[in-house]
Amino acid sequence: MTVYLVGAGPGDPGLLTRRGAELLARADVVVHDRLGTADLLDLARPDAEMVSAGKAPGQVDLTQDEINAVLVDRGRAGLEVVRLKGGDPFVFGRGGEEAEALAAAGVPFEVVPGITSAIGAPAYAGIPVTHRGRSTHFTVVTGNEDPAKATTDVDWEALARTGGTLVILMGAARIGGIADRLMAGGLAPDTPVAAVRDGTRPDQRTVRATLATIGAAGVRAPAAIVVGAVAALDLTWFESRPLFGRTVVVTRAREQVSELRTRLERLGAGVLELPAIAIKPVPFTVPPLADYAWVVFTSVNGAHAFFTQGLAPAGLDARALGGVRVAAIGPGTAAAAAEHGITIDLVPGRFVAEALLDAFPDPDRAGERVLLARAEQARDVLPEGLGARGYAVDVLPVYRTVTTAPDPGVLEQVRAGRFDAVTFTSSSTVRNFTDQVGPLPDPAPAVVSIGPVTSATARDLGWTVAAEASEHTIDGLVDAVCALLAPSPR
Ligand code: SAH
Repeated sequence: MTVYLVGAGPGDPGLLTRRGAELLARADVVVHDRLGTADLLDLARPDAEMVSAGKAPGQVDLTQDEINAVLVDRGRAGLEVVRLKGGDPFVFGRGGEEAEALAAAGVPFEVVPGITSAIGAPAYAGIPVTHRGRSTHFTVVTGNEDPAKATTDVDWEALARTGGTLVILMGAARIGGIADRLMAGGLAPDTPVAAVRDGTRPDQRTVRATLATIGAAGVRAPAAIVVGAVAALDLTWFESRPLFGRTVVVTRAREQVSELRTRLERLGAGVLELPAIAIKPVPFTVPPLADYAWVVFTSVNGAHAFFTQGLAPAGLDARALGGVRVAAIGPGTAAAAAEHGITIDLVPGRFVAEALLDAFPDPDRAGERVLLARAEQARDVLPEGLGARGYAVDVLPVYRTVTTAPDPGVLEQVRAGRFDAVTFTSSSTVRNFTDQVGPLPDPAPAVVSIGPVTSATARDLGWTVAAEASEHTIDGLVDAVCALLAPSPR
């Protein structure tokens, strides 16, 4: 029906607009570049047609005419098309040409502006493009023309006289020649310059120099290069977060990766997701709960599965647990039960099966029944321990964990050891990770484990555990990663 020219922002996926995210989630076809848009593609429907306009290694780029043809063709076919473009589609994005082609073909289109790297990258480097007393205006200019040509479209000498802030895009390769022309136009050699490469991404780098020195400073693309008094400002925030510049591998099941990932990213880490396990439902029927004194949940997944796949289909809700006491192994599990309306009677002080066993009261009478809702494959500590205490324990498998195929690019980076730490949240994540990655990279990377049982499994498999969470939760795990990798305390 309509072709949407959508700005993806400069790289941080959080900088996509709400309108862009909505359209992306709905699109039949997504036509995307490589630059700055990779993470966002996960927002698209799994069955959407994905067309890469190129610039990926080993791939032939589509020409602009070919891209225009795809947009016109899919638009005419009555499909909803999102053309996702880095930054803002109308700032050096050739979005104007695409809109012209669509208009000429009579295909309806809309434009969704994005945050341009010309403003976004400097902002993430702590550089305001205008600043009271320093700069009253900013000019955004392309640097991809050869500045030594006899006649150029860009009048660098005139820009030098314009003053204010100059933001140069596509200029990394030619910045030396550009600086010469700006100085020839009258800008002082000591005019501050800041080049922000891969702005707003976990590997952002800011090079600070002057017009006289920037040519030799080794600026690499993609960079937004800021020239002018504001380039001396250093209101650093993004690059000074505690885990900035660190890469952490997370191995939780894909369904629950997001919380750990979000927490680490907020602290500045680059996160590689290697989902060691996925959660799969298993068929089960909840037995009559009135027969039980206790129901025990050992994981978030177990609690959710119990309510959504057990109680709900049987037309039951939290009231079915009215006369039953409920235990959870940790606060995450308790919170999951709370989402289904259940307040937990017992959470041990340490969040492992052994601690739950210690905290469990003796049965009021021998043979009192406990229902243990948990994964198909799990340790026998609880059933055996509670059995030894005089309880009759029924194990109810409510989900299963299975191995999933990792992303080949991520796998390659992990195998090469290009990361600073790997997090393990359970013994099964250690085992599956070891199966997938194969021989350990040398030197072996730092392992951060959620607790003693996971650590023991890791050591059994030949890993050295560099840090263990003292509180066996996602928060505790994140704290342990920070203690290990952050240069200074938070
Ligand atoms: N439409 C885009 C610009 C496309 S031209 C926008 O509005 O941002 C490509 C140029 O944009 C690159 O050569 C580089 O100068 C700049 N650029 C894109 N992403 C960037 C990023 N994350 N950090 C710094 N510069 C970036």
